[in-house]
Amino acid sequence: MVSSPTPVADHQHRLSHPYRITSGDGFQLHQIDPGSTDHTQISDKHAAEAALANGVERMAELQDKLYAQDRWALLLVFQAMDAAGKDGTIKHVMSGVNPQGCQVSSFKAPSALDLDHDYLWRANQCLPERGRIGIFNRSYYEETLVVRVHPELLARQTIPEVLVDHDIWQHRFRDIRHYEDYLSRNGVVVRKFFLHVSKQEQKRRFLERLENPEKNWKFSAADIRERAHWDAYMEAYEQMIRHTASEHSPWYVVPADHKWFTRLVVADAVIDALESLHLAYPTVNDQARRALAEAHQQLLNE
Ligand code: ATP
Ligand code: MG
Repeated sequence: MVSSPTPVADHQHRLSHPYRITSGDGFQLHQIDPGSTDHTQISDKHAAEAALANGVERMAELQDKLYAQDRWALLLVFQAMDAAGKDGTIKHVMSGVNPQGCQVSSFKAPSALDLDHDYLWRANQCLPERGRIGIFNRSYYEETLVVRVHPELLARQTIPEVLVDHDIWQHRFRDIRHYEDYLSRNGVVVRKFFLHVSKQEQKRRFLERLENPEKNWKFSAADIRERAHWDAYMEAYEQMIRHTASEHSPWYVVPADHKWFTRLVVADAVIDALESLHLAYPTVNDQARRALAEAHQQLLNE
């Protein structure tokens, strides 16, 4: 295990703490209830909106320092089944941050050009610059999820045959662990979120998309096809978390049946990550301070 290059923070008291997985040994998905709204005094949507607004304000302050300091980058990875609320969570949680300091990348089915490269290639090009927050709406983790559930996708990747054996998933987990070690040693702080929605709640949300004309656009027939593989996906998610959770790039398994709760937990985890960096505005040295004084005087003399 590689020691964490990021400063250690006290996470114990935080709302997101019970959902934070730093070691995957023995992790089982059923340990976290998708319907949970525990560990908060807040019990309804309206109080949650006020709490989220506070969180968003705090995040904006921290992002401003992240940007000014220009050393660390924060990468937030979102994975979930369809209709678990990825898009809404990203929209609400990031609503207060300066768009200049934030970039969202959505990873869909790979293009012919993507498939002509190793699977981390396209993600690597979308990493946040120093001082920025990068959001991955889906990610390289799809390579251990959809590709595992649909082996025909692996065949399309045209990897040399001798390299495709039954160990391929273990190899991918190891690649990803090493990749994330590498990122954290370079100042990219990685936080990963699995929005854990129940099968029953997904059905309710799909029905709403079908029955409400304003939500029809969100529905895709492919969503129902993937739902038919629910158990295989849950198994793949569990394996993924078990093998890639670490102290420096933890998974958060966030209950997602109540959207307001999901958003509060994610916001708290992002604030936790930023606070652990002890960000501060850059200070000015004597030489720079003299230059500022000169510029000041020059303007006054005009
Ligand atoms: P939304 O439905 O909210 O617009 P989404 O993330 O579900 O967002 P879609 O365009 O519906 O976006 O789906 C993208 C699809 O691309 C998903 O089914 C996902 O599994 C698939 N995908 C992403 N990465 C890969 C990959 N590496 N290989 C194969 N399929 C992938
Ligand atoms: Mg979709």
